[in-house]
Amino acid sequence: MNGPTAATPVEPCDFTVFGGTGDLALRKLLPALYLRDRDGQLPDGFRIIGVSRAEVDDEGYRSMVEDALSEHVAADELTDDVVRRLVGRLHHVTLDVEDVSDWHRLHDRLKDGAASEDVIRVFYLAVAPALFGPICEHLDQVGLATDRSRVVLEKPIGTDLDTARTVNEAVGRVFDESHIFRIDHYLGKESVQNLLVTRFANTFLEPLWNSRWVDHVQITVSESLGVGERGSYYDRSGALRDMVQNHLLQLVCLVAMEPPTYVDRETVRDEKLKVLQALRPLTPELVDRDIVAGQYAAGLCDGAPAPSYAAEVGHESSTETYVAMRTEVQNWRWAGVPFYLRTGKRMAERVSEIVVVFKEPPHPMFPHSEGPTEPNRLHIRVQPDEGMRLHMTAKEPGPGGIRLRPVSLDLSYAAAFGGRSPDAYERLLMDVVRGNTTLFMRRDEVEAAWAWVAPILDRWSRPTHRPRRYPAGTHGPVAAATLLERDGRSWQETE
Ligand code: NAD
Repeated sequence: MNGPTAATPVEPCDFTVFGGTGDLALRKLLPALYLRDRDGQLPDGFRIIGVSRAEVDDEGYRSMVEDALSEHVAADELTDDVVRRLVGRLHHVTLDVEDVSDWHRLHDRLKDGAASEDVIRVFYLAVAPALFGPICEHLDQVGLATDRSRVVLEKPIGTDLDTARTVNEAVGRVFDESHIFRIDHYLGKESVQNLLVTRFANTFLEPLWNSRWVDHVQITVSESLGVGERGSYYDRSGALRDMVQNHLLQLVCLVAMEPPTYVDRETVRDEKLKVLQALRPLTPELVDRDIVAGQYAAGLCDGAPAPSYAAEVGHESSTETYVAMRTEVQNWRWAGVPFYLRTGKRMAERVSEIVVVFKEPPHPMFPHSEGPTEPNRLHIRVQPDEGMRLHMTAKEPGPGGIRLRPVSLDLSYAAAFGGRSPDAYERLLMDVVRGNTTLFMRRDEVEAAWAWVAPILDRWSRPTHRPRRYPAGTHGPVAAATLLERDGRSWQETE
């Protein structure tokens, strides 16, 4: 069994997190940096500067982060030495980014004690997107946006095509596209990257990966949690903006893209863009026919009573917490192959999975009495329990004729590679420091995705639009099942 290979240290860096006291920073970014430090990837001279409106000094911030690490890093990964080392890298700058007079504080802190004059500077914007433009402008004004600086943008990048363009233009006035990292943490997941390796570093799949052999593709990203404390944000966003426009469409791209000449930042993104541009254009009729919006009602989730969405946000709402859709990638490889996507909150389970369902054997050789032949299916499990499973039909051992049985070939990452699977942010944050944009979304990709969902946003903005209700803890509204039944298919639920 092979363990993970040793991590190569990155260059010294001043890693500034705007929103350094926020949920994202404390729950995801700082634990990821801690784990990279633990594995020896952060060199001396790597500083982490939290920026927020909170009136805390360096000491206060250090103890806040120490508490967050003990809450969000598994106990067996925490060691006192590494916590001390990471905490020693931390600084905090109190700054209201909208107040010009505060910005000298960040400038002075970054200039003071930097590893070198031209140290790499990362500016991670874990704040509301409305602040992205102003932050970049101020970084430019105080001379912190240099050739060695990179900016990281968290989702959501806009709420529609126009607002995404506004954000992209504001950021693009200061930073070159090669220095802009639009993060989609799905792309940092091991199993998602392995999808590219499985497709392009092996030969057996490629001849089958097309409309001749693939019947259809299903992509599911379901959560069992409700909106919880994110209600006020979520009610303005909904599942289409929060999940489909970014994560689900990115997964479609990775499944459907053509092999790039080599794996490199532009070639991979060029191929993904072509997939987005080939998605079947939506008309109002297609939106009504092929796209289902749902919203959870009260029910039982994870064995406990769960309130309705309306009760969680405190009012009736037409925001969707569930989307199911049928689409097609209209190119030579995929002509006529349906791609069914669904995502929802308060579903029966938390699972992200891509299922490629192959066609039935062309000729039914075995009499039905010998058992069913099921179409081959490749399940790519993104989370939890990352891995792959190929469903096949085999002969049940035993004398006296042939009996057919479905069986599966399993590749569990945990079993094959051992150890812990790194969190997506660990990989992505180090890619930012290295300047590798391959796993980040380019401006044209984000805008192509918004352009494709625009007719849905438009249709669903009508006052008469109402998502269909589904009880919490189920697989979504009945209409989502009908969407596939209409085509003689059904959703693959986890076994
Ligand atoms: P949060 O409310 O917990 O924290 C916001 C942070 O921004 C705080 O540190 C606050 O002090 C700082 N801030 C706000 N206004 C500021 C200003 N004018 N000047 C300086 N600092 C300011 O928010 P969060 O959950 O950490 O999310 C931050 C952003 O990241 C949001 O846009 C959110 O949509 C996005 N995001 C969050 C998550 C998540 O898991 N929390 C996931 C993906 C994207």
